[in-house]
Amino acid sequence: MTKAIEGRTEEEKLLLTRDTVDYLNELLNIDRKAIRRLVSHHVPCSLELVEHPTVQAHATHVAQPEYAVGMLGIINGLIGVRNHTGYITAVFGAETGELLRFEFTRRRGERTPEEILKEHDDAQKSEPPPGEGWGWPPSAKKMHYFGPDHRALCLKWAYTGERLNGEPGRENKEVCKVCFDRHAGKR
Ligand SMILES: [Zn+2]
Repeated sequence: MTKAIEGRTEEEKLLLTRDTVDYLNELLNIDRKAIRRLVSHHVPCSLELVEHPTVQAHATHVAQPEYAVGMLGIINGLIGVRNHTGYITAVFGAETGELLRFEFTRRRGERTPEEILKEHDDAQKSEPPPGEGWGWPPSAKKMHYFGPDHRALCLKWAYTGERLNGEPGRENKEVCKVCFDRHAGKR
C-alpha cells in the first residue's frame, strides 16, 4: 500500500470521497450508459490484488475461487476501507437495475461526510484565535511578540500560531530585541 493511502486521515478520506462522488455523479449525468457499463464490468484478477489492503475485489466462485475486480473497486482502493468495504457505493434501482448514483457508503443512521466534516469545521471555528503574546513562527530564527492583530511588534512577522507561556529575558539570544523593547516600553 502506498504511503499516501496509509497516511490519509479520516477527514482527508471523507474529503476525497466527497470529491470523487461528485466527480463520478457528474460523469454519470454526462453518459449514463458508459458509466453504468464500466461499473458493471469486472475483469478476472489475481489473489494478490484481492489481498491488497484497500482494493475492493472479490471471489466469483466459492468452490473454485476465481477473482474479479471492477472500476469502482480500484477507485475505492485509492481512498481506503470503511466497514470492511469501500467509501463509495454505486446505487442501483431495485426494479430497473439502472445505475442511479454514487454515494458515500454508510449504514442506516450513519452521518453523511458533509455532516461529519461540518462538525469538524464548527469545532475548529470555535477555537478562539490566539491573543497577544510571544510566538515562534516555524520559519523564524527568533521568537517575536505578537499583538492582537497577529503582527509582531517589530513588524517583520505575522503569525496566528501558538503563543508561548511566560516572559523571556532580554539576554535570551532567541528573543527578538526590537519586539522585546517595544513590548517592555508598553508595560
Ligand atoms: Zn520581532
